[in-house]
Amino acid sequence: MVLPIKILGNPVLRERSKEVELRDPTLKALVKNMEETLRRAEGVGLAPTQVGILKRVIIYDVGEGLKVLINPMITRESEEKVEDEEGCLSIPGAKVPVRRAERIRVEGYDLEGKKIVLEADGLLARVIQHEMDHLNGFLIIDRTTESERRRVLEEMVGGPD
Ligand code: ZN
Repeated sequence: MVLPIKILGNPVLRERSKEVELRDPTLKALVKNMEETLRRAEGVGLAPTQVGILKRVIIYDVGEGLKVLINPMITRESEEKVEDEEGCLSIPGAKVPVRRAERIRVEGYDLEGKKIVLEADGLLARVIQHEMDHLNGFLIIDRTTESERRRVLEEMVGGPD
């Protein structure tokens, strides 16, 4: 089921998501619906926050198939930061420069409850950091320059966030 994506201005995007029980029986259906939503929107990643569900789960596909991380935690990040343009399905049309760690180590669980430890860099590291921001109520406009933030807010119908 494709779920409606919440757009900037919706207060749910500012909420902190909660850790999930690994045996939560609703997780598989949630991930399936999120995948359908992500595919329809042609995005690279999605957090449940964006469909109004406050659970610490992220999904992404950077060209190697769908990946799921449950209760993800960044346990290491490089001193080296890189800036690149980022968009967000919750801020349609916007592209702003965002500085992020070039490399991260992230730990979490898959849908079977198996522990995952992942070293990521480049686009993958960026996507994971972006989606994890959603779990904490942060958006790309919080990570860009003040002038870019103002430009996005002015362009968005519905006024300032
Ligand atoms: Zn986003």
